[in-house]
Amino acid sequence: MKLMEEKILREGQILPGDILKVGSFLNQNIDIDFLGDMANEFARLFAHEGVTKVLTIEASGIAIATAVGMKLGASVLFAKKHRTSNVDGQPYSAPVHSFTHNEDYEVLVSRDYLSSTDRVLIVDDFLANGQAVNGLFSLCEQAGAQVVGVGIAIEKCFSGAGDKLRAQGVHLESLAMIESMSEDNIVFRREDNSR
Ligand code: 5GP
Repeated sequence: MKLMEEKILREGQILPGDILKVGSFLNQNIDIDFLGDMANEFARLFAHEGVTKVLTIEASGIAIATAVGMKLGASVLFAKKHRTSNVDGQPYSAPVHSFTHNEDYEVLVSRDYLSSTDRVLIVDDFLANGQAVNGLFSLCEQAGAQVVGVGIAIEKCFSGAGDKLRAQGVHLESLAMIESMSEDNIVFRREDNSR
């Protein structure tokens, strides 16, 4: 998605540890016009997958998932990162290693909100080593739900997780694909879907 690449080049900041900061439009301050563009693009790319539920992880995935859910007419579910009184009983859970915080945590969803009748689109802001997405896959597997696609705003291709998922036959779509990045340069991978 050309717009995403332009936005990253204009507003993104590269921090130590291969972190791309996109707080000005995606991770803290949310550009709602741009969010609408992203949602339209994801809705176009996954229009034929019969999505019933959009699944993400708190917190930065929620805005994107909500916008996509509204476009696809699907409900939106986010996995929590902490056991709170809101997560009752024996939730589905999976371990995840956080890329940005370099620590382990659990992703959790109540059994009430994910079931074997769901056709799930997993959505997240970034794909790096694939830990977050794999955790969400595990939750779906535990619920017997079918994952019909994965939509990522920004894929860091140099981590290899995206290509691994594609090789496994996962319908993965990333709005921007970063082949390499250094302090003063970002190289994008271009695929057929780029607009
Ligand atoms: P993974 O689990 O694929 O290794 O990393 C994806 C998760 O880590 C995403 O949920 C995202 O929040 C975070 N993440 C990974 N790389 C970046 C990055 O470069 N910038 C930001 N802001 N978050 C990232």
